[in-house]
Amino acid sequence: MARPKVLVLGARFGGLTAAYTLKRIVGSAADIEVINKSRYTYFRPALPHVSVGVMDVEKLKIDLAEALPAKGIKFQEGTVTRIEAESNKVYYRLPNGNEVSEEYDYLIIALGAHLATELVKGWDKYGYSVCEPEFATKLSERLLSFKKGNIAIGAGFFFQGSNPKPKVPENYVPKADAACEGPVFEMSLMIHGLFTKKGIWKDTKVTVFSPGEYLSDLSRQSREAVRQIYQSLGIELVENFKIKEITDKEVIAEDGRKIPADLTILIPPYAGHPVLKVSTPDLVDDGGFVPTDINMVSIKYDNVYAVGDSSAITVPKLGYLAVKTARTAATHLANRLGFPVEVEKYYPTIICVADNPYEGFGVAVKDDTWYGGNVSEAVPSPLNHLKKELFTKYFMWTKGDMALENYMASW
Ligand SMILES: Cc1cc2nc3c(=O)[nH]c(=O)nc-3n(C[C@H](O)[C@H](O)[C@H](O)COP(=O)(O)OP(=O)(O)OC[C@H]3O[C@@H](n4cnc5c(N)ncnc54)[C@H](O)[C@@H]3O)c2cc1C
Repeated sequence: MARPKVLVLGARFGGLTAAYTLKRIVGSAADIEVINKSRYTYFRPALPHVSVGVMDVEKLKIDLAEALPAKGIKFQEGTVTRIEAESNKVYYRLPNGNEVSEEYDYLIIALGAHLATELVKGWDKYGYSVCEPEFATKLSERLLSFKKGNIAIGAGFFFQGSNPKPKVPENYVPKADAACEGPVFEMSLMIHGLFTKKGIWKDTKVTVFSPGEYLSDLSRQSREAVRQIYQSLGIELVENFKIKEITDKEVIAEDGRKIPADLTILIPPYAGHPVLKVSTPDLVDDGGFVPTDINMVSIKYDNVYAVGDSSAITVPKLGYLAVKTARTAATHLANRLGFPVEVEKYYPTIICVADNPYEGFGVAVKDDTWYGGNVSEAVPSPLNHLKKELFTKYFMWTKGDMALENYMASW
């Protein structure tokens, strides 16, 4: 009998964790193949470090064509263009431009979300970001040569879907205005560190903007602590500011408000992945995200899983949740392939570290109050800076295969 074929689409937190975890459990009992649009993948949480000049982007690069086959996982470089869930087929474009299709028995979608820069007028000319390696490199040139002036940092709107809903407890999927504001907080701290070191903080005005209530995924106490930090540093916070346009001197909201900005750093609006929007229509919700049950199985297609930022249940869009959803998907699928392992239970919690390397501390956040829990920690400490550095090294050392993490530490 032919071995079942598992296709994994995408190779960052979600795709890598799903592929490695499944392979470790099922060994040669299934053929596992990862399709990613580039041969290389980068560790995203350290891209802000690249932008302030403390990390070389090449040190964050993983060669998938070496790393995956070394663990018995097939790698295929290709840009996925469409998923036909009714006929178990994925269409993709090879690097030579040829369009091909491939059938699967099981599919794990880990394509991430779409960074909708096209929705922000002036982005191409004036916009800066840290979300991809090329953005972070371009921003580092600008930040390292910055002398004085106004900087605006913020996130675009999150075009979250709402129908059909995932089959998980309703409190696990809150409605969010921003998909990912952690990097905004982290960049605001990092720029303070960098500019203090350069001696130009006093000549710089930083304004942080948010499309809704800033860091609404954290508890009231943690948000208040952030306000106090901003007050003490002289950073202005502007809320309910839905970005519409960037010019050479300001950033403009939909309601016409303006923030002076010689440099605008944006975590772009988040939307559903364009590939999912042109795929089998009932695979996705009205925002282009995949609604699943608590085991990450599509509510419509029993042999399709979705993990990480592509999933409708991950709010906010966070690497920690991408890893959690991928582990749940992999252990659930392993059972279906005949391996009776414990299915990792999904429970959302916000866990991340906002690092400030120039000032030698990081703020470690652990918070589930948004989901109705009562854990709320936001701890600034030099140890948390070290933790982020070690985590980066660990991820790069294992090439994204964080097998020991369950035993050694948590984020
Ligand atoms: C600047 C920044 C810093 C962050 N820092 C942290 C942090 O410190 N901690 C944390 O927990 N989270 C952090 N996050 C969030 C975290 O990076 C994301 O939640 C996480 O990367 C989501 O993982 P994913 O695998 O689901 O999707 P993605 O990371 O978006 O990966 C998608 C993958 O799919 C591939 N792909 C996309 N389209 C196609 C296609 N058409 N065909 C083939 N392949 C395709 C991409 O190349 C990529 O490999 C940060 C986010 C940003 C933007």
